[in-house]
Amino acid sequence: MQTVPSRLLLKSNGLKRHTKQHKAANAMQSQNKILLVDADSTIPNIALMKLAAYYKQVDIVKCNISYYPHKRKDVVVNAVGYDKVFVSAIFFSTPNHLKVTNCNCIEYGGSAYSITKKLPDEVIAWKSDYSIYPNADTSYGFLTRGCFRNCEFCIVRQKEGNIHLDESVEKIVQHKQVKFLDNNFLCHPQADEILQRLVAHKIRFQFNQGLDIRLVTDENARLLSQADYIGSYIFAFDNVSDEDIIVNKLGILKKHSTSNWACKFFIYCHPEMDIVNSVCYRVNWCKANQVLPYLMRDISCWDSDESGFYTDLGAWANQPGIFKNMSFEEFMYKRCPSNELRQQRSIATYNEGKQDASKWQRIVDDKSLQLAAEAEQLTTDDFNDLII
Ligand code: SF4
Repeated sequence: MQTVPSRLLLKSNGLKRHTKQHKAANAMQSQNKILLVDADSTIPNIALMKLAAYYKQVDIVKCNISYYPHKRKDVVVNAVGYDKVFVSAIFFSTPNHLKVTNCNCIEYGGSAYSITKKLPDEVIAWKSDYSIYPNADTSYGFLTRGCFRNCEFCIVRQKEGNIHLDESVEKIVQHKQVKFLDNNFLCHPQADEILQRLVAHKIRFQFNQGLDIRLVTDENARLLSQADYIGSYIFAFDNVSDEDIIVNKLGILKKHSTSNWACKFFIYCHPEMDIVNSVCYRVNWCKANQVLPYLMRDISCWDSDESGFYTDLGAWANQPGIFKNMSFEEFMYKRCPSNELRQQRSIATYNEGKQDASKWQRIVDDKSLQLAAEAEQLTTDDFNDLII
């Protein structure tokens, strides 16, 4: 368990504001000692940056609690001396690993605690204060919130409602590049208009949560091809049944000079999905169509019998240089050259689907017995060279 002492906190410089109203509000707000706790964000946390802008003088502590079970650590934040603490956490597992002590006024927010709780309007109205993330070189924000779809595994509709505009480009962009966090930007009626503006103003950007490929048109594909886009165009390939429409839309993107390997597809996988006919099928489809996959493993993959396979598959699929130039089999021989059992098991899972865990345990046990028998046959003379 790690305790974070308050002297290690970063201080916000506070944004300079120009209206009398803001100055008066800040004067009152800055009388309170405010601590912001960034529990698990891997990018600058927008809610905390807005709180930093609103309260002007804040301290922040970053806990870096991991999404990955084997990397998680327990963190205790000692908030002694603070009047109010705001905690923000994204991952549902994080609250089990975080404790804030010595403060009676703690406000918890973020998807991990509530998917409906929002900051007050007077806080949301502020521009993000990046001084609490002094190394940030990229702006983050939402042009739109919500989605017109309501996929069963997704909380966006419940959390943010139907698609609607959120913040303007001007309000979001504070750096040389920007990553938009919209969940389904292309479904907004003004999407083309906003893309035109991004292109006209030569803004370097990316939609890092991906775009809905089913909504690609000639016009938005043309605008995307003219944009100063960061990295790959990211889409999702969740269901094999979407293959036909995805092939069709990929054709439109490629017509607008989107080069091979310029698109990336999130491939969500869950232990209940058929490994060969769903997970590997979609990954191999990416290779055949010269687009990159990004295997997104559901957290339950870590506890499944195939956890080792999912790790191997992700290590292959999520490294573009390796994925483009090597088959999964070749990759496995290189990945663990002296662990024949692991190679065999992962390659068998890739080709045949779920494996019988007891069969592989028997092979491991037989191998151990064989090694023990070989060791017994050795005489002390065999070790003479080693005696010093
Ligand atoms: S299209 Fe995407 S954002 Fe919209 S509900 Fe489905 S998964 Fe969620």
